[in-house]
Amino acid sequence: MIAEVIVDIPVKQTDKPFDYKIPESFLSLIQPGMRVVVPFGNRKRLGFVIRIKKESELTNLKEIDSMIDHEPVLTNELIELGGWLSKTALCLKITAYQAMLPAAMKASYKKYLRIVHPEELHERWPESLSFLNGYYNKEWGQILKKATEDELIIIQKALQEGWAVLEQAVGDQSTSKRIKSIGTELSKAELEKAYDQLDQRAKKQREALAYFINQDQRHFIPLARFLEETGVGRSSVKSLIDKGLLLEKDVEQFRDPYSHSDIKSTEPLPLTIEQQKVLEPIVRDIEEHQHQVYLCHGVTGSGKTEIYLQAIDKVIKKGKEAIVLVPEIALTPQMVHRFKGRFGSDVAVLHSGLSRGEKYDEWRKINRGEVSVVVGARSAVFASFKNLGIVIIDEEHETSYKQEESPRYHARDVAIFRGRYHSCPVVLGSATPSLESFARAQKGVYQLAPLYSRVNQQPLPEVTMVDMREELRSGNRSMFSKQLFSKLNDRLEKGEQSVLFLNRRGYATFVMCRDCGYVVQCPHCDISLTYHRRQGRLKCHYCGYEEMLPDHCPSCQSEYMRYFGTGTQKVEEALTQLLPEARVIRMDVDTTNKKGAHENLLKAFGDGKADILLGTQMIAKGLDFANVTLVGVLAADSMLHLPDFRASEKTFQLLTQVAGRAGRHRLKGEVVIQSYTPDHYAIVDAGNHDYQSFYQKEMLARRQRQYPPYFYLTLITVSHVDFTKVVDATEKIARYLKQRLSNEAIILGPVAPPIPRIKDRYRYQCMIKYRNEPNLINVLKECQNHFQDIHSKDALKVTIDINPYLLM
Ligand code: ADP
Ligand code: ZN
Ligand code: ZN
Repeated sequence: MIAEVIVDIPVKQTDKPFDYKIPESFLSLIQPGMRVVVPFGNRKRLGFVIRIKKESELTNLKEIDSMIDHEPVLTNELIELGGWLSKTALCLKITAYQAMLPAAMKASYKKYLRIVHPEELHERWPESLSFLNGYYNKEWGQILKKATEDELIIIQKALQEGWAVLEQAVGDQSTSKRIKSIGTELSKAELEKAYDQLDQRAKKQREALAYFINQDQRHFIPLARFLEETGVGRSSVKSLIDKGLLLEKDVEQFRDPYSHSDIKSTEPLPLTIEQQKVLEPIVRDIEEHQHQVYLCHGVTGSGKTEIYLQAIDKVIKKGKEAIVLVPEIALTPQMVHRFKGRFGSDVAVLHSGLSRGEKYDEWRKINRGEVSVVVGARSAVFASFKNLGIVIIDEEHETSYKQEESPRYHARDVAIFRGRYHSCPVVLGSATPSLESFARAQKGVYQLAPLYSRVNQQPLPEVTMVDMREELRSGNRSMFSKQLFSKLNDRLEKGEQSVLFLNRRGYATFVMCRDCGYVVQCPHCDISLTYHRRQGRLKCHYCGYEEMLPDHCPSCQSEYMRYFGTGTQKVEEALTQLLPEARVIRMDVDTTNKKGAHENLLKAFGDGKADILLGTQMIAKGLDFANVTLVGVLAADSMLHLPDFRASEKTFQLLTQVAGRAGRHRLKGEVVIQSYTPDHYAIVDAGNHDYQSFYQKEMLARRQRQYPPYFYLTLITVSHVDFTKVVDATEKIARYLKQRLSNEAIILGPVAPPIPRIKDRYRYQCMIKYRNEPNLINVLKECQNHFQDIHSKDALKVTIDINPYLLM
C-alpha cells in the first residue's frame, strides 16, 4: 500500500503529495489525516498522510519512517478543506494543514508510551504487562520500529482500552493529568434491565445504577466526585464493576480555564414572536439536513444569542456538533458563561488568552468527541468535529475573521465550505452586517433573518451629537464638551455608571518638536513612534523597536519635544482634574496585557467599584452592565479619514456598537457622540440607529468608486530591502497582469502604500479590481512563481491577498 504525504517543507516545489510505501507493520494502523515522519532528501521530515492507495506510478519508493499519531488529527473533510484553501487563498497545502492544528502540536512531534496503573493491568491482563513494560516510556517512533506486527496489535489494543496512553511532551504545563473515573458502556435499556434484576435489598447499588440511567451516558465521572455526590460506598461500586455493569477507567483530567463553579446553569427562554420567526427555518434545516446561510440582522439586545443557544440545543439533541465563532475581543468571560451556563462541560473554548497547553487540551476534547460545542475566535472554525450540525458567526462584520498571514482565509468562507460539506445551516449574526453580506442577503444568496426590536422592549438609547468645532469656538478647549461633562456629573451624583469610549484607531500619540516640527519615527518602518507615558518610552507598533523619549530635538536641539494626539492616559488625567471624586477604570493595551487583567477590570466595574469605565475598542463589544446609563464617545471621526475604503463602514459599526452598550436593562440609556464632522452620514446614521439608510448611501459610494461588493479586490505587495528592486519588480508585475487578465480588470499602481517600509524592507503595491476573472488564480500563481525569489534569505517577497481587509 502507498500513502500520499504532504511534507512539511514550506516552499512551492514541495507543495504536492509525495508517494511513500507503507511498511508492513503499519498497514493496519495508518489512516489518512495522521502525521508521519518520512525520509526526504537526506533528512527526516514531518508529513501529513492525505490518501492511501494501492498503486503508484513511481517505482523505487521510499518507506514511511514512523508514525506520529495513532488517531487521525485531520478528518477527511479537513484534508479536503486544506486543498480548497490552497487554491482559493493561494497558500501552501502544508500551511493550511498546520493552521488547523494547535500550536503545541507543531512544537514537538514526539510521543511517549505510558502505562496507566500497572498493578491493575497486571490483575486483568497479566500476559501483556511484562511485554508492555518493555516499552514503557519509549518514544512511539522507536516502538513502531522495533515491535513486531503481533506486538503492535497488543499495543494498539492497550491504547484503545485505556491501559496505555501516548503522551506528547508539550512542556511541563501540559503533561496531562489522569484521574480514576467511573461510568458505563451499557445502553440505557440494558441498565434499566439490570436495575430490575438487582436484589431489592442492594439499595446503594440500585441508587448508583439509577444515577447512570438518568445521566448523559457519554461521560465518565471522577470516582471521588461520584462517591461524594451520591453517598454510595466504594464496595457497592466494586460490586457493580464485578457484575460488569459499571466500568472504571482513567480519564484525562483537562485543565479547564473556565471551571468557575459560579457559572449558573440556565434554561431556554420562551422566545418572542420575532425570535421564533428567525429560529424556525434554522431548526427546519437542522432537522432536514439542509445547507443554507442565514444573515441574522438584529439590533443589540434583540436576543440573537438566545436564538443561537436554542439552535445549538437542537443540534446537540440530534447528536451533532456546533461551532460558534466570536471575535477575539468579544470573547469575554460573560460570553463564555452564557454557553457554559446552557451546555455545561459540553463546551470547549478556544481563544488566544489560553496557554499552549490549555489550547491543546481543548482541541483534544473536540477531536475525541468529548464536547459538542466549541466557542472560539477565528481559528475555531477548523474544529475537527466529524458531525457538524451548525456553524454560527457572531458579529460577522468583524474584520478579525480574516487572517492577515498565510493562509489568508476568511472564517466566513471556511464556515460556508463546512456548512455545505455537512449539509447544515450557517448563521451570520450582526447588528451592523458587512456590506458584502447584506448585499448577498438582498440578492437572496443568504436568507435575511431580521430582528427589529429589543427583547425587553427598551427603546434604543437616545443619541446626542456634539459638534466639537462649536465647542472650540465658544471657548471650551477641553476634550469634554459641556454636555458630556454635565451628564457625567449627573450620573456621578445619581450613583449610576458611565462608559467613555476613545477611538484610538487612526490616532497616534506621536512626539513632535514644537520648534521645527520634527516627528520621531521608527528607523526601520517609516511610521511615527507611539509615546508610552508610563515607561517614558517611544515604541514602534509594527516592529517593536523602542527608544527613550529624547530630551532634545534630534534635528534642532530644541527642548520643546511634546506628544500629540489623545491617548486614554491623557483622558484619564483630564478626568481626574475635572471630576476628582470619580473613580475611573482604564482599559487599554497597557492595563490589560497581563493574563486575567481584562477580566478583573471588568469584574471590578461590574461590582460597582468604579463610576467610569474608560477604554478603547476593547470595551466596544459584548459588555452588558445593568447600571450603565451613559455612554460617551470622545472622538467619533478619528478613523473616518484612514486610507481604507471601509473607513465609513467601520466608523458606523463602531459607533453603533458603542451606543448599544447603554440602557440594556431597566434603566434608560443615553449616548453622547463628540465629533468634528457631525454631518457625515456614517455618524448621522449611527446616531439614528439607521442601518438601512447607511447601507444605501455607502453602497452608492462603493459603486461609484468601484469597490466591494460591486468589485472584487486582490492586493499584491512586493517587498525587499533594496528600493529600486521593489519598484522594478512591481512595475513588471503590473504589466504582466495587464497582459494576462481581461480588459475589464482594473490594475492600480504600482504605488507606495501608506506604510512604505516595515522592518527595513521597502514595500510597493498593486491592486486588482475585477468582477469576473475565471483565470485569476492561475495568473496570480504564475506571477508569484515567476517573480518571487526563493533562493536567498532577504529575497524579493510577493504577497498576494485575495479580498484584503488590511490595505496598509
Ligand atoms: P443580542 O445577542 O442580540 O445582543 P441577547 O441574546 O444578548 O441579544 O439578549 C439580550 C438580553 O435579553 C439578554 O439578557 C437575554 O438573556 C435576554 N433575552 C433574550 N431572549 C429573551 C426572551 N425570549 N425572553 C426574555 N429575555 C430574553
Ligand atoms: Zn518599526
Ligand atoms: Zn526640532
